[in-house]
This record gives sequence, C-alpha cells and structure tokens, in this order.
Amino acid sequence: MADESLQEIVCCMGKPVAGNPSQFMMERSFAAAGLDWRYLTLEVSPEDLPAAVAGMKAMGFRGGNFTIPHKVAVIPHLKRLTEAAELMGAVNCIFAEGDGFVGENTDGKGFVSALKEVIDPEGKKIVLFGAGGAARAIAVELGLNKAASIDIVNRDAGRGRDLSKLLSERVGIDSKWIPWNGTHELPEEADIVINGTSIGLCDGSAMVPVDSSTFRESMIVADVIFNPPETRFLQAAKDAGCRTIDGLGMLVNQGVIGFKIWTGVDPDPSVMREALEEYLGI
Ligand code: NDP
Repeated sequence: MADESLQEIVCCMGKPVAGNPSQFMMERSFAAAGLDWRYLTLEVSPEDLPAAVAGMKAMGFRGGNFTIPHKVAVIPHLKRLTEAAELMGAVNCIFAEGDGFVGENTDGKGFVSALKEVIDPEGKKIVLFGAGGAARAIAVELGLNKAASIDIVNRDAGRGRDLSKLLSERVGIDSKWIPWNGTHELPEEADIVINGTSIGLCDGSAMVPVDSSTFRESMIVADVIFNPPETRFLQAAKDAGCRTIDGLGMLVNQGVIGFKIWTGVDPDPSVMREALEEYLGI
C-alpha cells in the first residue's frame, strides 16, 4: 500500500545561494537516518523575505537555514530568539514552535563542538582574527563556554570594538580589540588561535597576516574557511607543530545541530562530512 504521509520540509534561503552545499549534506543525512524529509535551497530577494517566511509557516515547514543577506533581516519575522542568537544579533537557523518560528544561531555552536573534539575552551586564552558575522558567532559561543579571555584582532575599529564590548559587557568575558596593522605577532600565552575572517576563501595562496614564527607547538589553531579546507594559515601552524582544526568541522557540526533541532534525531557526522567533501570535490 502507498505511504500517504506528507514529507517534512526544511530549507535554506539566501541570495545568491546556488552552490550552497547544505541541501546535498542534509538530504544524504536524512536518507542515512531513514527520515522521509526534504531540504530545499531557495533563492529569495530581501524584499520577498517577509512573504517567504510567511509561506514557510503557511506550508508547515519545520524550519530552515538563513544565509547572506537574511541573517539579521529575518529576526522581526520570528516569535523569539535563543540567548546566543539574541547576543549575536543574527540568526542562521530557525525551527517551528507553536504558531511561529524560533531563531537560533548554530555557527558558533558548530565551531565550539568541533573545537571540543580537541580542547575545551573553558579557562583558555583565545586570539580571534576578524569581527564579522562568523567571528561574532564564534566569540559569543566561546564566551558562553567560559573562555578566560578573547583578544579580537580586526582591521575595522568599529566592528572590533563593538565585539570586544559585547563580550566584556554582556557575556562577562575579558576581551579587548587589537588593531590589525601589518603582520600580527601572537602572544606566547595564547592557547587557541582562530582565523574568523574570509581570508583564504576559494584562494589557497592567501595568507592571514600573522607572524608564523610566533606559532607555538602548544597552540590549537583553527580556521573557518572550508573551501579549501587546507588553508595557508593552517599549513603554517602545522609546520610549527600545532594541532589544527579546519572549517569543515564547523560546517559539519552546525549541520549536526540543525538536524537534531528539527528532527530530534542525532545524525551521523561522518555521513555529513563525506557528503560535503564529495560536493566540494575535496
Ligand atoms: P563578514 O563579511 O561578516 O566578515 C569578514 C571578516 O573578515 C571581517 O572581520 C573583515 O575585517 C575580515 N577581512 C576580510 N578580508 C580581510 C583582509 N584582507 N584583511 C583583514 N581582515 C579581513 O563575513 P562572515 O564573518 O560572514 O564570514 C567570514 C568567513 O567565514 C567566510 O569566508 C565564510 O565562508 C566563513 N564561514 C564559515 C563557516 C563554516 O561553517 N566553516 C560558517 C560561516 C562562515 P573588517 O571588519 O576589518 O572588514
């Protein structure tokens, strides 16, 4: 007899959104978990966002991901935000609750769960390059996970100061903005060093302006860039004997968290990572 149940639907909205690997990764994971769910990739213009979110509600979508340029603009269309999303002021994942959607941010959580496979950030001294959306999400989540201190190294003074102020005043973490002039020298006592900028995206030859001779073996070094996953920044850290974490770990883990939020089921992270590597041709 035919199965008459409706498929559950989630989606990713952004513009441009072609080439986003989430659908491939999620649909592989639904199949591996035996779930009859669909994940759609939808290109939505900023002026159509209110109607698109109303449509998700009208059609009973279980949730979705939001990417550029909708991460902030989606907020007025949600019934509430989680603590992390409220602190970050940005949402990349929503889920249905009663008659509306709740906004969450899984970017920072994905990063921290990839980091925790190697080291617990609690009590650690952190240097973070960047103060854009990804860096902000990572910094807030590291703060919520009780890092000892977070130095924000960023070119733009406004964004750098804003993030260190948010961390000190609202998350209660020791933080300062350090202007990024030329090649940055890492302090000896740093435990974790993170590239949260877009330097290296689709460009394996681009290097984060950091003095490579200041990497120490004891440092854990991470990058948000997932394409290519082996960045020059991580290569330089590896050459200095550091343990490294690539951007695919963050991407997989934010996918794992979203999948669990929507379905209540723990997906197999290795299925997600393999799907991503296949999609990205790595
Ligand atoms: P934003 O545009 O919000 O921020 C970009 C950041 O990079 C800013 O801090 C900017 O500094 C800095 N930056 C860019 N170019 C330079 C440069 N030449 N020198 C110094 N600083 C520079 O982008 P996002 O934060 O949203 O994304 C950043 C990266 O993170 C992207 O490459 C994205 O692909 C990746 N990402 C990865 C994820 C994953 O799961 N692995 C998830 C989300 C994002 P300034 O403020 O001075 O302009």
